[in-house]
Amino acid sequence: MMAKMMVKDIYDLTKTELRQELEELGEKPYRAGQIFSWLHARGAVSFDDMSDISKSLRMKLKERYSMNRLQVMEAQRSSTDGTVKYLFGLHDGSAIEGVFMEYRSWNTACISSQVGCAMGCRFCASGIDGCERNMTAGEMAAEVYGMERDTGKKISNVVIMGSGEPLLNYDSLIRFIVMITDPDGKGISQRNITVSTCGIVPGIDRLAGEKLGREHSQVNLAISLHAATDIKRKKIMPIAEKYSVSEVVAAAQRYYEATHRKVTFEYALIAGQNDTDEDAAELAALLGGKDIHMPVLVNLIPVNPVEGNGYRRPSRQACVNFKNKLENFGINGSIRRELGSDIDGACGQLRRRKRADYSDTGP
Ligand code: SF4
Repeated sequence: MMAKMMVKDIYDLTKTELRQELEELGEKPYRAGQIFSWLHARGAVSFDDMSDISKSLRMKLKERYSMNRLQVMEAQRSSTDGTVKYLFGLHDGSAIEGVFMEYRSWNTACISSQVGCAMGCRFCASGIDGCERNMTAGEMAAEVYGMERDTGKKISNVVIMGSGEPLLNYDSLIRFIVMITDPDGKGISQRNITVSTCGIVPGIDRLAGEKLGREHSQVNLAISLHAATDIKRKKIMPIAEKYSVSEVVAAAQRYYEATHRKVTFEYALIAGQNDTDEDAAELAALLGGKDIHMPVLVNLIPVNPVEGNGYRRPSRQACVNFKNKLENFGINGSIRRELGSDIDGACGQLRRRKRADYSDTGP
């Protein structure tokens, strides 16, 4: 029996790659822009929707490519604001999470970059079962399109802060940024994209040197710091065994110098672990050191409890005190706005619960 030809997911091609493949098929290069636009801006759900593409070319496309779409397996909708937390099913049966967030004048998609995560941060449910696989650029883009389709609302901002460490899926990350910023597709500004990392120093440096159509990347960087000393950070984040806090902060400084884009430090406040006045003073000393020459913002996130880690969320007043303490030392802090507090849960919990549901019911 002849082996079935592997078909590529057409969503996973950048416009340049699509143009090259169409040229190999003897097609005019401008067709790439038309097809890319159908896929990434005009919401085609099948090749037959592409009404300005000839029937013969549509046939060729059908033979060569699949159009993999995400399935909404579950959508938890906040009753207090427009936040929607999604569990998406991928074509191979994997599941990932994404969150749609509504702000006063824009909408943001928080997307995953890997199925699960290998980093094992103790406050995060996404890392408990490790990393199953990298996501493709097309799958990452499909998260944004799936949220737009479901909510009927346009997304202008993307944060890559869901499950996975995007700098360890670097090629897909860059291809995703190229795709989602393409003017024939969604045309989202690089400046409206934030890459969140747990502090992969070589990845930060690589991103700082990335050309991305301009002199340097213009995407924003968010670094999960969560502690100001190596001793404390190692208790919370295994990656701290590999890169020290001073190496991570130095990489952030280099990123700022190369790109002049904002770097935010994420800090999950955990009661009794990293939320004392002394912690605030150490954090301020680290980020306000003599080698730091960039605007610094610390985003304080009251931690969500995850089964088994014993972490507790500090009181609202304790969070405000920590922020005030930082500001007394001249470091800007903000407490993350509680969007969708009625559906809120730690990143990765929805996926874990669903997996448990499936294993309870058998194959
Ligand atoms: S916080 Fe991010 S890097 Fe850490 S385990 Fe969770 S998904 Fe991975």
